[in-house]
Amino acid sequence: MAAYELRCRECGKAWGNQPRSICDDCFSPLEVSYDYDALRSRVSRESIAQGPPSMWRYSGLLPLPENYQPSLPTGFTPLLRAPHLAKRLGAKNLYVKNDAVCLPTLSFKDRVVAVALANAKAFGFEVVSCSSTGNLANSVAAQAARNGFQAWIFVPSDLEPAKILGTQVFGAKLVRIAGNYDQVNRLCSQIADERRWGFVNVNLRPYYAEGSKTVGFEIAEQLGWRLPDNVVVPMAGGSLITKIKKAFDELVTLGLVEAKPVRFFGAQATGCSPISTAVKAGNRDIEPQRPSTIARSLAIGNPADGHYAIKAITQSGGWSEDVSDAEVVENIQLLAETEGIFTETAGGVTVGTTAKLVRQGRIHPDEITVACITGNGLKTTDVLTGEYEAETPIAPKLSEFETYLNKSLPEPVAV
Ligand SMILES: *Cc1c(COP(=O)(O)O)cnc(C)c1O
Ligand SMILES: [Zn+2]
Repeated sequence: MAAYELRCRECGKAWGNQPRSICDDCFSPLEVSYDYDALRSRVSRESIAQGPPSMWRYSGLLPLPENYQPSLPTGFTPLLRAPHLAKRLGAKNLYVKNDAVCLPTLSFKDRVVAVALANAKAFGFEVVSCSSTGNLANSVAAQAARNGFQAWIFVPSDLEPAKILGTQVFGAKLVRIAGNYDQVNRLCSQIADERRWGFVNVNLRPYYAEGSKTVGFEIAEQLGWRLPDNVVVPMAGGSLITKIKKAFDELVTLGLVEAKPVRFFGAQATGCSPISTAVKAGNRDIEPQRPSTIARSLAIGNPADGHYAIKAITQSGGWSEDVSDAEVVENIQLLAETEGIFTETAGGVTVGTTAKLVRQGRIHPDEITVACITGNGLKTTDVLTGEYEAETPIAPKLSEFETYLNKSLPEPVAV
């Protein structure tokens, strides 16, 4: 067997390595599986530490072509202690994994696209494509430009302006669809059957999804090769949360961290909460929803990995919650004001959900909890419209400023 190959998640049939995401025998999703005995002799904490300060330090644990030379230093984002936010939430041991500063396009999607395009090149695709709720569009467009692919990007027409522009600027062909993400995705599956295009989240999906493991690898390494007690993860298609779990499981299997129970907590916006609704109702499968939320990056009503996300959450003893659009905005502001991190709507969902879980007593203050911030606030500034007063300008004179200061401060400042 090669170092890795595709296998059916349900019947276990091996499919080798090819651009394919579904098992023809049982119509279940395919996943990359590895020969862990071979990996054990090749990957150690030391070999990882000698790698570059990017997600490529975990190349040995990813499905990459032999001697693959990456073109960009993606990932290895900061894991920050968040003491001020923790205090406000009533927690103590809170960390933020900050993919708002992931390169090249400021979301965790850069990780999945990096692995997908490595495989697109190996499979000989000249055109890469995706259906996207925004961040994936930005990332495919940028990395396609960098790696010499043509890019065709399909998005719902109501995306944030910054995410549209942040796709077009890279020279990608952007097709806006008058429909929601689930309709866009269905169209892409049909196009993928017609054309020899590498759709990163359709026919390349098993490879793409493995890129999300690097979030989990980094959390463990940055905690000093330890697993946290809890992780809180925003969910759209539900892939990221399952892959952080896979990453932790692999590190245990390979003897790189000590085994430890980790609880997985999913976060969604109430206006699109098929996974959290199922978890709360005790269902094993999701019922599709029609999304209506400002958290557009998470607005997938029929999540491809919903079933597996529910399983990861419930089997770990975790939970899933959802928050209103108003809470999303409040929690974007809270994270910014307490820790100096400007996240997009998905991050507001994560912080709001973490707050709720602490209040519910599902997350204990002393436990090590990592909240995954997955995207950057500069892409969704439209949701803050009206939150701040437009100040009237004052003349550039000290006296004017003194007057302004006296008006703004209710009490005189003691000098
Ligand atoms: C896509 C996305 C997610 C969720 O990813 P899934 O793997 O589809 O669940 C979370 N946050 C942001 C900012 C995203 O763009
Ligand atoms: Zn099968």
